[in-house]
Amino acid sequence: MTLHDYHIARERMVREQLEANGIRSERVLTAMRTVPRHRFLGGDAGSEAYSRHAFPIGFSQTMTQPYMVAYLTEHLLLEGHETVLEVGTGSGYQAAVISSLVPRVYSIERIRELAERARGVLDALGHVNVRIKVDDGALGWPEEGPFDRILLTAAATEIPESLLHQLCEGGFLLGPVSRNENEQEIIKLVRQGTKYSFERLKDCAFVPLIRDGRGHDTSVISDLADLC
Ligand code: SAH
Repeated sequence: MTLHDYHIARERMVREQLEANGIRSERVLTAMRTVPRHRFLGGDAGSEAYSRHAFPIGFSQTMTQPYMVAYLTEHLLLEGHETVLEVGTGSGYQAAVISSLVPRVYSIERIRELAERARGVLDALGHVNVRIKVDDGALGWPEEGPFDRILLTAAATEIPESLLHQLCEGGFLLGPVSRNENEQEIIKLVRQGTKYSFERLKDCAFVPLIRDGRGHDTSVISDLADLC
């Protein structure tokens, strides 16, 4: 496929999957029109990169489907000044979309190979305002917090408390939580002082957030450490 073909595939994705399903934010639609999703899939994914489904990225993980990426980004209610923490870098695509809307994104991935691959694509595309670290994302990134927004892109069975402590006053966490083995929903937890208000937004299907105690083998993956 040529660059022009990819451009057309993206326009179509925005029209048929996002606008047709209620995504309204012009800023989010522009980001989804701009970020070349196919580049995050490696190899030649062709127009499949812009289809409706989640896409395999190896290691039994998936890149979230375009509609859900747009839905989550829209619900982050970004005005343009926020600092965002993402848990579950995966391909790096969601981080890229968010990074075109805010000055700084931090993203944590537990699988080193995915983190390194994502770093490579983000650097190649100039998304130098994304920092990535290999770790258990449930621990957050306390040195860089607090965050205005925390986005989970893997489904937790319960919200890790350490993440909540890394939210700014009035900030919120958004992401999938498992209700039981087969059902998940997107929830939103807003920090108000020492209390948190809770809202259920939508049913969903994400890969699980894995808590395996990894956290000792941590490192920031940064080819451009001095710039980010
Ligand atoms: N945001 C990604 C979606 C990736 S799928 C994208 O745009 O492509 C979820 C990712 O979360 C997977 O890569 C998985 O390895 C990662 N993950 C699962 N549990 C994790 C944990 N405890 N800490 C950090 N990453 C985790």
